[in-house]
Amino acid sequence: MTIQLTKGDITKIKVDAIVNAANSSLLGGGGVDGAIHRAGGPKILEECIQIRNRQGGCKTGEAVITTGGNLPAKYVIHTVGPVWHGGDKREEELLHNAYTNSLRLAEENNVTSIAFPNISTGIYGFPKQRAAEIAVKAVSDFKASTLKQVFFVCFDDENYNIYKLLGVEAV
Ligand code: ADP
Repeated sequence: MTIQLTKGDITKIKVDAIVNAANSSLLGGGGVDGAIHRAGGPKILEECIQIRNRQGGCKTGEAVITTGGNLPAKYVIHTVGPVWHGGDKREEELLHNAYTNSLRLAEENNVTSIAFPNISTGIYGFPKQRAAEIAVKAVSDFKASTLKQVFFVCFDDENYNIYKLLGVEAV
């Protein structure tokens, strides 16, 4: 499995699945969540509402899957990263879980390529350097079978440069 770095808008990436940094309501929000629902159209929110009615949303560190709607990606995997509260509220473990549970759900759906945004580093305020280290470790440690390609899609220069310095290959 390759792990690569790219810059830009995750809604434009042609992969089997893109990951959304959702919130536990699954009802949409700002940042990358808003961008994914805007670009993907109403089918994604319809499926999120069905999941919410069935299981009451998505807990922090867990993940659910919907159609990609009008996106180039076939699926959206919605995961909920932790809100940063200073580091004493299991934030690191919960962020690691968000990556690992997204990868597991991808494999259950025979996904071969997946793209991650920088979960929790926007509105949720997780320190970017530490978040990148956790993201790279979670993906590197994952024992993949169907997955062949993982992309980190950085929207801002600061995150992009952090991943580059961590040695992730830019494409
Ligand atoms: P969170 O609430 O998990 O912090 P945000 O959406 O606020 O989620 O931010 C997560 C990351 O997604 C941030 O690094 C932000 O720059 C990035 N981001 C925002 N829009 C996009 C987009 N269209 N494609 C990829 N990343 C994006």
